[in-house]
Amino acid sequence: MQVWKFGGTSVGKPERMHSIRELLNNDPSRKIVVLSALSGSTNALIAIGEAAKAFDEAQASSLIEDLKTHYNLFIKELYATSEGLEKGQEIVDTEFGFIKSLVGIKPFTIKQEKELVAEGEILSTKMFQAYLEEKGENSVLLPALDFMRIDADGEPELATIEEKLVTILNQYTDRQTIITQGFICRNPREEVDNLKRGGSDYTASLIGGAIRADEIQIWTDIDGMHNNDPRIVKRTFPIRELTFEEAAELAYFGAKILHPSTITPAKLRGVPVRLKNTMQPDAPGTLIANQTSDRDIKAIAAKDNITAIYIHSTRMLNAYGFLRRVFEIFEKYKTPVDMITTSEVSVSVTIDNSENLDKITADLREFADLEEHDRDQNIICIVGNFSADKEGIALKVLDAMKNIPIRMISYGASEHNLSLLIHSKYKAEALNVLNERLFYYEDAMKDIFTAP
Ligand code: ADP
Ligand code: ASP
Ligand code: MG
Repeated sequence: MQVWKFGGTSVGKPERMHSIRELLNNDPSRKIVVLSALSGSTNALIAIGEAAKAFDEAQASSLIEDLKTHYNLFIKELYATSEGLEKGQEIVDTEFGFIKSLVGIKPFTIKQEKELVAEGEILSTKMFQAYLEEKGENSVLLPALDFMRIDADGEPELATIEEKLVTILNQYTDRQTIITQGFICRNPREEVDNLKRGGSDYTASLIGGAIRADEIQIWTDIDGMHNNDPRIVKRTFPIRELTFEEAAELAYFGAKILHPSTITPAKLRGVPVRLKNTMQPDAPGTLIANQTSDRDIKAIAAKDNITAIYIHSTRMLNAYGFLRRVFEIFEKYKTPVDMITTSEVSVSVTIDNSENLDKITADLREFADLEEHDRDQNIICIVGNFSADKEGIALKVLDAMKNIPIRMISYGASEHNLSLLIHSKYKAEALNVLNERLFYYEDAMKDIFTAP
């Protein structure tokens, strides 16, 4: 069995849903199909929630009407028969009725907000299942809320998910296509919750791991993981193969094509992940698995909104125990540390969740001196095969960065990652110069040598 996930743009137009049906039918394997909300829908639902929170009823109603109009037009092109359209209309009317009722409850709580944003995936999957039914396909829709579970920290409960999912799937062994929602889940209070923005990738991987799928395919709007951010850098290209470790680093450090946690469940069970382009299904895409290919430097990614904290020990020397005390504070506030650099008496760390920054710095000041922290920093992460015997990698990276101020460098923690901390105003320049120096070295040299 395979798990195929289609993202927002891949379901964002009626003709794209038609193409998904063709893609499914062109491949004989049984599949669990995970769908995102139609592109733009989650953002629109969040905006509706914001209006409701601000008690702006007129704005909330007008946004709901706009979104409903979009869905009304969508179903007109999605279905070919009057029965199909009738079913589609019933889905849209029911879900929008629910959306209106949610927004009407005052005050508008986080619980309602989560139920509201879940409607994007609930609509897309119901509409797609009704389309497959119209075409007489052998499919069924399984609500993700029946098996996707997170714990109090928002982390998926792997054992529970597996147990529930396997039990449910046993009832549908006769179905060729099993559809479910990405992104949404239930929390320990049994309320509707989600796996955070972009979470449908994570759903696919959690399902793929739970059922030990043959393969997880993430279908999106680009032909695989590129070597650099295609939204910022001009000359990027798809990477054919990545190891789980390399892909995990890229996703965690900002390659938006994958939710940061996507790789973990797949890697745990050794299930290969293939990134494919819905608009170009014949393109090979990227295969993420155990194998390595020889290229030293594979890709670059950038993680935004980083805060750097600079901590100095108040005792001068032999301050063993200092690091433990520092990290206990981050643990206390459940704040992951991304980069660390140390000297004899100082340690600098970066975090991307600055929700508890004030509390963290106040606690640190009880036993350490702090320099003013820097917000608006960026981690540039260079990923590849940097095993200990490889030489010259840091030289190439630092040479490319020679005109950009670097605040921190981290190298050697894993064999796959070299990270640099810079101010975010240099992000685009850093990604571009690194791209030219690391992937188009010969071109860069040619320019130098042929320059007048
Ligand atoms: P989906 O809606 O299918 O989940 P996303 O928008 O979340 O799609 O992710 C795909 C987008 O990720 C691409 O359109 C591209 O602009 C962006 N992206 C950022 N970094 C990379 C990268 N290194 N390789 C490929 N795409 C990337
Ligand atoms: N619809 C959700 C979002 O926009 C989840 C996803 O698309 O992966 O974040
Ligand atoms: Mg996505």
